[in-house]
Amino acid sequence: MKKLTAYIIVFLLIILVSQSCKKHKYEKELIGKSLQNQTIVEERFLTAYKRIRKNARNGLAVVQIERDACGGCFNKIPPQKQMDIRMHKKIIVCEYCGRILVDENVVAKM
Ligand SMILES: [Zn+2]
Repeated sequence: MKKLTAYIIVFLLIILVSQSCKKHKYEKELIGKSLQNQTIVEERFLTAYKRIRKNARNGLAVVQIERDACGGCFNKIPPQKQMDIRMHKKIIVCEYCGRILVDENVVAKM
């Protein structure tokens, strides 16, 4: 479970790095962290992440739940699925757009 949270954080870090960040220093720091983390993330997760990111329209592979909906495609997420996402037991993807869904706690840990 701790490991999974680490994976999610890594995904988010990579996203943060890939988005245009105004604070150059912060960006550099994140790139460093991202590269560091890429070496500890299993290959299959990285491959999945890259695949999703390539297909996602706005370039985001990991999105947050926003008002009970996927932050990427805005389709509603069933309550049971939202529970599963909050439990951090496994990586859960949006059934409509395939993006990885995370809760606000994961984002807050950043
Ligand atoms: Zn979606």
